[in-house]
Amino acid sequence: MDKDGENKSKQTSSKCSREHLQRKPFLTENPNFPKCRTSRSMSFHGGSSGRRPTASPSTGKNSVEAGNSSKGKERARLMLNPEKNHKPEKYDDLELDISPWIFSSLERYLPRHLLRAPRDLKVNYMREILHDYAPPSLRYRDQKQREYREKIMSNYLPLHKELYTIDPVAFFVPTFLKAINDNTEQSFRRIMSEPAPGIFTFEMLQPRFCELLISEFENFEKWVNRRTFCVMRPNTMNQYGAVLDDFGLQTMLNKLMEYFICPLSKVFYAEIGGSTLDSHHGFIVECGLHRDVETEFHVDDSEVTLNVCLGRQFTGGELYFRGMRCDKHVHTISRSEEYFDYSHVPGCAVLHHGRHRHGARATISGHRINLLMWCRSSFFREMQKYKRDFSSWCADCNHEKEDKLRSAYDTTRMVLLRREGETNA
Ligand SMILES: [Zn+2]
Repeated sequence: MDKDGENKSKQTSSKCSREHLQRKPFLTENPNFPKCRTSRSMSFHGGSSGRRPTASPSTGKNSVEAGNSSKGKERARLMLNPEKNHKPEKYDDLELDISPWIFSSLERYLPRHLLRAPRDLKVNYMREILHDYAPPSLRYRDQKQREYREKIMSNYLPLHKELYTIDPVAFFVPTFLKAINDNTEQSFRRIMSEPAPGIFTFEMLQPRFCELLISEFENFEKWVNRRTFCVMRPNTMNQYGAVLDDFGLQTMLNKLMEYFICPLSKVFYAEIGGSTLDSHHGFIVECGLHRDVETEFHVDDSEVTLNVCLGRQFTGGELYFRGMRCDKHVHTISRSEEYFDYSHVPGCAVLHHGRHRHGARATISGHRINLLMWCRSSFFREMQKYKRDFSSWCADCNHEKEDKLRSAYDTTRMVLLRREGETNA
C-alpha cells in the first residue's frame, strides 16, 4: 500500500456527495452545495444520492415515482413528459419551505387528472414528492446557501469585472485556444500529454488571468471577513477556499465548461458522460502555511474534473493518483501501474475522470492556489443507476469480468473433455 495514498485514506472519515440534477423539475435550487455522510475509510466525493427519481427504463412506465417515504400507500407520481400546453399556477403567495418556482415548474409533470385540480391539492401532492427528494435537513441547508448567495450577489462589488464574462484571448494561452478552435482529437493531442491512462495535462491559462482570479478571490474573502458571515467552503475537505459560483462567476464557468471543456471531454471521456456535461461546481482551494496543508485521498463528485494551478510560489502539493474505481471497488488496493504523481505548474491544467482516486500531498512551503471545476452529467448519472458493470474504466470490475470469463471457459473446457473421454470409452 502507498504511504500517502491508501494508508492515508484509512485515517479519513468524511463522505460527501451533492445533488446536481439541475435540468429536472424536481430539484432543489442549490445543486452545488455539499451534503455529507460518513465513510469508514475514504473521503468519497461522488456517487448517487439514492434520492433521485426512479424512472425504470425496463418497465416503460410513463411516470416517475417519489422516493421511499410513501411505502404502504399509493405513491405520488409524476409524468415523464410534461404537459407543454398547460399553464402552471403561481405559488409565490404561499408559505412554502421550498422555492415557489419549483412548484410552478413541477406542475406540468403532474398526472393529467391533477392539472386542473384545486391549487391546495396540487401543492400537497407536489410537496409529498419534493419532501422525498429533499428531507428537512437538506432543505434547511439549501435555504442557508440560497440566502448566502443572495446576500453576496446583492452586496459584493467585483474587483475585476473582466473575469465575469469569458474572454478567450485574455483567459487562455494561444496553443490551447487554437486546439479548441480546430476541435479535432489530433489538435487536442498536440497540446496534451497523457502521462497515465485517462489523465491529461496541458498548458491552459494566461498568467495574468491566474493573477486576476486570485486577486478576485482574495478580495471576496476580505469582503466576507469584514461582514458578519463566514465564507462557505467548497467541500468537507477544505477549510479554506471558496465556491466561485457563490460570488457571481457561475455564468463564466458555465461557458468555460460548455465551450472549452466539453470539446475535450466529448473526445476523451465520452463513455463516462463527457458528451453530456450539464452542470458544474467551480471553486478555489488554497494550500500552504495557515491554510489547508494537504487534500486527503478521495474521489470527486464529478464525471470529469478540471484542476488548474493558478499560482503562486510553493513547494510540494503534488497530486497522487491511484486508479479509477466504481462505488463498489472504491476502497480496493491500487496496482503498481496505477501509481501516478503530478507536480503542479501555474497555468497548467490536469483533466481527469472524477472517479480517479487521488489526493494532494502537503504543500511544504509557500502558498498554492488552484481552480477546480467538477463537471457533471445528470443524464449519465441517471443511466448509472441501472448499471452494475463498470469494466470499461474500473480496474477491479474489469478484473472480475475477466475472472468470470476465465471460469466459464474452464468449465466449458472440462465439460468438452469429459464428453470426449466418454465418447472414446
Ligand atoms: Zn468496479
